[in-house]
Amino acid sequence: MEPKHSPNTEPTHDLKDIRELCLPWKKHMRNPNATPEELQQSLVEQFNQTKGDKEGFDCPTCLNKGYIAYLDKQGQKHLRSCDCMQRRQSIRHLERSGMMQLASRYTLQNWQTGEDWQKELLNLGRQWLEQGQDQWFFLSGTPGTGKTHFCVALCNILLGQNRAVRYCLWRDLAVQAKACVNDHAAYQNLIEPLKRVQVLYLDDLFKTGKGQEPTVGDVNLAFELLNVRYNDPSLVTLLSSEWNIQDIIQMDEAIGSRIYERARQFYVDLSGKQNYRLLSFEKRK
Ligand SMILES: [Zn+2]
Repeated sequence: MEPKHSPNTEPTHDLKDIRELCLPWKKHMRNPNATPEELQQSLVEQFNQTKGDKEGFDCPTCLNKGYIAYLDKQGQKHLRSCDCMQRRQSIRHLERSGMMQLASRYTLQNWQTGEDWQKELLNLGRQWLEQGQDQWFFLSGTPGTGKTHFCVALCNILLGQNRAVRYCLWRDLAVQAKACVNDHAAYQNLIEPLKRVQVLYLDDLFKTGKGQEPTVGDVNLAFELLNVRYNDPSLVTLLSSEWNIQDIIQMDEAIGSRIYERARQFYVDLSGKQNYRLLSFEKRK
């Protein structure tokens, strides 16, 4: 029979998980020669060398357990979450949103640099990565210039640094937001994580069918999302759009001015540029 716990002693779910994770520690309990300090240290090392079964990313730090054991100053054992857990969560979101393939295809290594503007953009992207991303990164311009490729490639670098990253296609977000606009809880579940995630890439901002201007609902949604991120400098934001900054200021000055103020030197309008791949194809024709 299962032992019965009174409500006060019932272990929480988290505690139970941690106990299960601690099982390997018990193997060392029988070593009679170790001093208490050696035993504790040995238990921590034993735990940290045990392989786990978390999927999505092979982590050399926690060996896919998701936790790292350590001793505090009093010699007490503790577990802390490994940095890879944020990365695993980002990968799960990528898989769920169907963007995993895109993310693995679009890298800075395979960014074409046959044209001067492509080399300049690569340098700018590297500069943005080095400077700590406190400014927004915004690419505007015609389709086929590689805006998505470049922004996804920058996000991949941040994902590789175990940051929490969300890739969000504006059209999908706008459709989902409209579908749940009368369901407060569902709407909050959709929007809140995007407001607060460490790194957000909003792809094809204000993309609508047939070149139409965004609706009032679109503008309100974008403002709600971007205003929170504008007010918190610790949040990293990348944007791409077929609309340039002047277009966006004309649609809504509050959004346009915020994007302009936060992006500045990392705003590039690629209108009139051509994708190297398309260009070389046209040269051959
Ligand atoms: Zn890890």
